[in-house]
Amino acid sequence: MDISLVIPLYNEAESLPELTAWIERVMKENGFSYEIWFVNDGSTDNSWEVIESLRRENDCVKGIKFRRNYGKSPALHVGFGKAQGDVVITMDADLQDSPDEIPELYRMITEEGYDLVSGWKKKRYDPLSKTIPTKIYNATARRVTGICLHDFNCGLKAYRNEVVKNIEIYGDMHRYIPYLAKNAGFSRIGEKVVHHRARKYGKTKFGLDRFVNGYLDLLTLWFFSKFGAKPMHFFGLLGSVMFVLGFLAALAVGGGKLYALCRHLPYRLVTDIPYFYLSLTAMILGTLLFLTGFLGELISRNAAGRNVYNIEKEIL
Ligand code: UDP
Ligand code: MG
Repeated sequence: MDISLVIPLYNEAESLPELTAWIERVMKENGFSYEIWFVNDGSTDNSWEVIESLRRENDCVKGIKFRRNYGKSPALHVGFGKAQGDVVITMDADLQDSPDEIPELYRMITEEGYDLVSGWKKKRYDPLSKTIPTKIYNATARRVTGICLHDFNCGLKAYRNEVVKNIEIYGDMHRYIPYLAKNAGFSRIGEKVVHHRARKYGKTKFGLDRFVNGYLDLLTLWFFSKFGAKPMHFFGLLGSVMFVLGFLAALAVGGGKLYALCRHLPYRLVTDIPYFYLSLTAMILGTLLFLTGFLGELISRNAAGRNVYNIEKEIL
């Protein structure tokens, strides 16, 4: 099979027939063999009935229904598990992404050798409250991940099948799929300018909290890719520096006091010297950071059986 489309949806019943008809037209014109995986993420409208009726007209339509709303990332993850096509393409169900991009995306993966091609909504049809923060968000993501993309969170993306089987998208991590792919060793990441359209039916499912959560997730992923397998390298270093600083300060405070005692100079109680408290705090924090490092190592050792080293080829 040439192409698997994976389409997560949450309350998008009105859009589905139009979207399916459009996809069918594009596929037929280009002679692709394909399947469409609709992942119904706990919709409360009649999306599932619509998918069932679409299936009666076309065998290529397939569906998964979650019992409740889990989010876009889990929906993509489950869809990726099912996808059989050589090229897997994701798009939003709200008709904001155009199926006309499919042939070119397919060509870039199969002929130009990309692992992943991400859409770039160069001209966006979204409110300003969304487009401006998005620019800042993308600039940050570019810096942190080292991947040169203008639009990390574009719903329209194409992958080689192998890529989607080797990344796990959990939580809200769909915003950083290119980063996940890069961390799994798929570094040929391309970009294609795609047409974007205003939302026709329904309304957006994400509010402004997306930006706060987006930054937190970026931090998590960065930490994971750097120290996920060796937490001690992070916590141990911080802890040691803290502890040594605290210890030196304590030595200075204690030494000063002893010196004054021996020389019969006037002295203050150790507890009257602010440095005493600072050094105490630094040593306690240092010890805690160190212990956190050990705990982190224990946890990551425990999970070692589940570590996935992505093996590309073998000679036996
Ligand atoms: N979506 C989903 N589960 C959710 C939220 C959204 O499957 O919990 C789907 C939604 O139906 C749409 C896609 O994810 O197909 C993108 O959502 P939306 O269009 O609301 O995002 P925006 O375009 O505003 O970024
Ligand atoms: Mg949308």
